[in-house]
Amino acid sequence: MNSVTKTSGANPSAAHLRVVSDRAAGTPGIALSGVSKTYRTRDGEVPSLRPLDFHINTGEFFVVVGPSGCGKSTLLAILGLLDSPTSGTYTLNGHSVANLNLKDRARIRNREIGFIFQAFNLIGDLTVYENVELPLTYRGEAAADRKKAAMEALEKVGMSHRTKHYPSQLSGGQQQRVAVARALAGKPSVLLADEPTGNLDSINGEAVMSLLQELHRGGATICMVTHDQRYASCAQRSIHMLDGRIANVKIGAAATTHA
Ligand code: ADP
Ligand code: MG
Repeated sequence: MNSVTKTSGANPSAAHLRVVSDRAAGTPGIALSGVSKTYRTRDGEVPSLRPLDFHINTGEFFVVVGPSGCGKSTLLAILGLLDSPTSGTYTLNGHSVANLNLKDRARIRNREIGFIFQAFNLIGDLTVYENVELPLTYRGEAAADRKKAAMEALEKVGMSHRTKHYPSQLSGGQQQRVAVARALAGKPSVLLADEPTGNLDSINGEAVMSLLQELHRGGATICMVTHDQRYASCAQRSIHMLDGRIANVKIGAAATTHA
């Protein structure tokens, strides 16, 4: 059983929700405590994330929904070690990642995290195969191991027949499949997807969602950001963000709403 409780003692404007899972089986791969982000710009400070507390269990399909500008990408960038929070602690697989140097952050990102972006972000000068192999090359893996892992990942997404193509020769849906393969090839402990269907028509969007669901059934931990409420139904838990806060938490089919 899961429950949702409001953190006591917080003033209402800074109130945030703590999502508590008391399922014995749930191991938090990701745990955030009081994580906030404020950008400093020439026009002043832009609070992008208010203090957030939540965790994502290993093997969970977790979705973050919310309108444009509510802080979804900021949150994912922090989870993916592409950005650092202004305050709070982030624990990944039991280790605090706050005080790591750039090199260690890059190493953990490369080994533990697979990214899927709205704009696919494939490298245009590299073939499908080379795109998927690249993160493994950064790890210094042997050529034979790289080939095995890259081909396995491409087979999983149904793109192993397009290894020599370049991204520009593929449809958007196919490019996103290759991006999913690239994210998978290194067997990361968590897949982070930022609006993975945002640039796709509904048929290709559904196909990518089916693929993510299949990966989840195979044991992947997924945190997906979307502004499309329809796709939140795939999640075991989803949070709805508004103005950098968690406004609503849904657990399975049941919903608990806070003002
Ligand atoms: P979403 O992904 O939900 O659309 P973002 O996380 O991209 O939202 O942005 C949340 C807020 O933070 C917005 O107000 C945005 O303008 C601001 N923001 C994001 N990145 C930066 C940045 N690098 N510098 C200043 N403000 C930023
Ligand atoms: Mg975004």
